[in-house]
Amino acid sequence: MAQHSFPATRVSDRNDILHLLVDVSHRLAEHGFVAATDGNVSARLPSGNILITPSAMPKRRVTVADVIEVRRDGHPLDPHRKPSTELDMHLFVYEQRPEIHAVVHAHPVHATAFAAARIPMTGAVFPEVILGLGGVPLAFYATPSTAEVRASIAPFIDSANAILLANHGVLTVGRTLEEAYLRMEKVEHAAHILSVAAQLGGVHRLTAGELERLRAISRPSEGLDPDAVFPSEPGA
Ligand SMILES: [Zn+2]
Repeated sequence: MAQHSFPATRVSDRNDILHLLVDVSHRLAEHGFVAATDGNVSARLPSGNILITPSAMPKRRVTVADVIEVRRDGHPLDPHRKPSTELDMHLFVYEQRPEIHAVVHAHPVHATAFAAARIPMTGAVFPEVILGLGGVPLAFYATPSTAEVRASIAPFIDSANAILLANHGVLTVGRTLEEAYLRMEKVEHAAHILSVAAQLGGVHRLTAGELERLRAISRPSEGLDPDAVFPSEPGA
């Protein structure tokens, strides 16, 4: 089994980051991870400022001219521009995780169904997901675009690279835009398989022994405590 590793090559040129952010916005739309004007994408520049998608724009239509640069306190460089209403959630991630340089938020169907059913994806089922992503906890419901969102993700953001937002959607983070996007793709793919498996009668979780052997060969999601990354609910 190949260990899944996400590309972490840091792009430092502002223009390159800008184009990657637009590319990720388009990919969210192409994969059906968002509907209408849902979702938002951001990246932290070497200057410390943040690039983020604008409010109320379909992700498939975002161009480099639409992306908004804000200071770390959230104020747009151009005061006439209106960044995503979820900007504060992105700012909170950057405050809490210095090594993280990209944040993606979307509403992919299967993972958002888990969020709506309030079922965390923390069971030890897929070795590749455990190694590449870790558990995906469920943050309690918070009214979108309010300060409640900070409080809801605060218990998990230090030790998770992907979080289900109850009755809302999914948040993923990465050292790069590519890494944050691929984590979204991975969460959704896992959620899709888990939902199909549920129709077949349910999944078998890895046993404690299987999980221990996996832990022995792995270097789970870099920068995180392996004890936090590994799901804590092995199969009985
Ligand atoms: Zn949302």
